[in-house]
Amino acid sequence: MLPSEDTIVTYPDGDTASTSAVLHTETLHDGRIAVLLDRSAFHPVDHTWPDQGADRGTLDGQPVLDAIVGATDGAQLFVGRDIPVRKGEAGWAFVVVHIVEHPVSGTVEVVVDADYRRALSAGHTACHLASLALNHALAAGWSKEVATDAAGSPNFDALAIETSTIVPDGSVDVYRIGKSLRKKGFVTAVLDADVEAAANARLAELLATHATVRIEREGPGLADRRFWVCGEYRIPCGGTHASSVDDLGALAIALERTDDDGAIGLVMTTSRR
Ligand SMILES: [Zn+2]
Repeated sequence: MLPSEDTIVTYPDGDTASTSAVLHTETLHDGRIAVLLDRSAFHPVDHTWPDQGADRGTLDGQPVLDAIVGATDGAQLFVGRDIPVRKGEAGWAFVVVHIVEHPVSGTVEVVVDADYRRALSAGHTACHLASLALNHALAAGWSKEVATDAAGSPNFDALAIETSTIVPDGSVDVYRIGKSLRKKGFVTAVLDADVEAAANARLAELLATHATVRIEREGPGLADRRFWVCGEYRIPCGGTHASSVDDLGALAIALERTDDDGAIGLVMTTSRR
């Protein structure tokens, strides 16, 4: 039966295994099986903002081929981009859809690849720190007041981001500096300075804080709001994270300026040195 409540998710607490009850299975049009559980340690990809991909692992020993955010109104299951409502819509449950090859039932053991998860968690925390560092490095580049980030800098990252991709131990963020960003007050002359060096200097300062990282959550369900809290900084985030900036090692930011269809593109790659 399709569930009326969100999947209880345990990955925000760092879990990589769960014993779970199968609530619903159905065969998708491609022949693969979608499995919904009462609780799951599996981080699913969220197609509204697919920055952190799905965990890898097994369900009762068989490989989980994909894990995707789904939603149900009790009558039908919608998966990924097909979800017609936003999180929090009354009467809808948001669920982790585990994709497997063979049907399962009863109680199952969920096991997540802990090494891969650790690398993505480090990459996701690195991504947040890099965005704070980039905002800081570009802070002089605004002629108007705009929304600020968790550290009080003008939030270039939020205003200009096109895509963010978490990779093992790092991230790739793509920004677009077009007409609308300039209208908001972004002055492109700031890019003539050595922004990469300034961002790396700020990133080194953030890493030197040795701050701990934790996830704050408003509830146990998939759709409940969660926050990344690192020292004094707090950013809304549904992903998984390292438990301390000390887990990240030495990080470097590389900035590449590109031509984004007539606008200035900026690609920020964050990785271990
Ligand atoms: Zn995040």
